[in-house]
Amino acid sequence: MWQMKLINKLKQTKFAALLKKTIIYDVHKKNQRRRRAVRLSGNKSLSKGLVMDKVDVVITTKCNLLCDGCSHLMPYYKNPSHLDKDRVIASMGKLAEAADWFDHFNILGGEPFLHPDLKYIIEEIPTEKSRLVQVLTNALIIPSDPELFDVMRRKDVHVVISPYPSNEKTRERLVAVLEKEHVAWNYYDRPWTDYGEPRDYHRSPRECKRQFFQCDEVCKNLLDGKLYYCFRCAHISDLGICQHRKGEAVDLLKNTTAQNRKQIRRLMRRHKPLAACRYCLMGTEQNGYISRGK
Ligand code: SF4
Repeated sequence: MWQMKLINKLKQTKFAALLKKTIIYDVHKKNQRRRRAVRLSGNKSLSKGLVMDKVDVVITTKCNLLCDGCSHLMPYYKNPSHLDKDRVIASMGKLAEAADWFDHFNILGGEPFLHPDLKYIIEEIPTEKSRLVQVLTNALIIPSDPELFDVMRRKDVHVVISPYPSNEKTRERLVAVLEKEHVAWNYYDRPWTDYGEPRDYHRSPRECKRQFFQCDEVCKNLLDGKLYYCFRCAHISDLGICQHRKGEAVDLLKNTTAQNRKQIRRLMRRHKPLAACRYCLMGTEQNGYISRGK
């Protein structure tokens, strides 16, 4: 707490601009974001529990767009596939046993509506521990399964529609269907962040440290039974571009609940850059915004 008081005091002095260039300030900002998740949950007792800001659960690497600049690197999968539903459900269960609260619990791909078992996966989302549950789609597929609509209504799932140049017509149809079925939806219309090509940018350890603290990516990524620090680390490891190191992911399916809880807590408080940071532009001066894909 003394660090916060010192930072707040320094902010009011002529050193304010200088302060913003230090690592202490970056760490302070990162901690502020973590505390925000507890505030948003409205449950103060959770401040001692294990609260996760955002979790993305990847259920497929198949996508019907494959845009240039896809930060989740879908075009790099030579043999994209749907993840096994039982494995996805088991890993969501292990995660829910270990954590106390999720601010955002997101289902995504690729394109999640391509997965034939989406309704069974949604059925097992730990909604009782989540403030907001979302399915992110590119709106090129219009679902028609009444059981899928039923489970989305019961679980209070929000369908988040990303507007792309190619889905102008279908997204209106999707919105009409969701309205008719009383499923909540909204648009996600921000420009894309440029995470860069997944190649080694040859940064020094010092540059990587600085980059890590400036990176404001807070989403943890659940991919094939493992919880990764961020989605970039998850897909770079999964594609075999650069293997993650010990402590950069939690093997949920192999561990006991107590081990998972301990390791997730460590992952959330991580203060060292990841192996994947060298393959990413986030948190650097080169990182900016790009226009949406196809
Ligand atoms: S790889 Fe590093 S810089 Fe890139 S999003 Fe993850 S934590 Fe941030």
